[in-house]
Amino acid sequence: MRLRNKPWAEEFINSHPEIIIPTPENYKGKWNEAFGNNNPLHIEVGTGKGQFVTGMAQANPEINYIGIELYDSVIVSALEKVIAANTPPNLRLLKVNGADLAKYFTKNDVSRVYLNFSDPWPKTRHAKRRLTHEGFLKLYESILIDNGEIHFKTDNRGLFEFSLISMSEYGMLLKFVSLNLHADEPKDNIMTEYEEKFSAKGQPIYRLESQFIS
Ligand code: SAM
Repeated sequence: MRLRNKPWAEEFINSHPEIIIPTPENYKGKWNEAFGNNNPLHIEVGTGKGQFVTGMAQANPEINYIGIELYDSVIVSALEKVIAANTPPNLRLLKVNGADLAKYFTKNDVSRVYLNFSDPWPKTRHAKRRLTHEGFLKLYESILIDNGEIHFKTDNRGLFEFSLISMSEYGMLLKFVSLNLHADEPKDNIMTEYEEKFSAKGQPIYRLESQFIS
């Protein structure tokens, strides 16, 4: 994602602590307190400009959502989107690194992890940075409920192939695989910004759902 310098971003982020939680470590093991209910929590790692997580929160009020994004200059667009959607009460954002999830969540905090159009890191020496690398799978398993799920969409065939192997070697159950999501698009599919961009160019979108086995 191209990063533009946005000097106003930090102030805008800090002025909305009700959406971008400033001290998420305080909610580790008790996210129900942040939302005021015991509904399941789904997180998206690498949420980008927030269209997916905002749309999901609006469509599924009985589920809590957290969008996680590393960069100020990107998360401000997600923040604008959340505000434009009248700040759904079941949605929060975190400006943190997905590699640090264990600082903010513990076992059973999360019911599902969404990964959408994650950075492919095509060089073999960068494989560990891919969000579906074994190291990240271990991390997700450590914060998910038993039999928790990962739902993953990408336009990148290499990353998709890598992810299928990585999850399979990890011992996960593959519950759904599509090599062309939009050829038979489920009615409830909520598109991400990248998904709109790539599918408009006629590129196939790959999707999988996988489950940890306890
Ligand atoms: N999910 C969005 C979509 O489909 O439109 C954005 C896709 S973009 C290619 C990947 C996003 O993931 C970028 O905004 C990037 O900053 C974010 N990202 C990459 N690594 C991350 C990490 N370790 N933790 C949090 N966000 C990350």
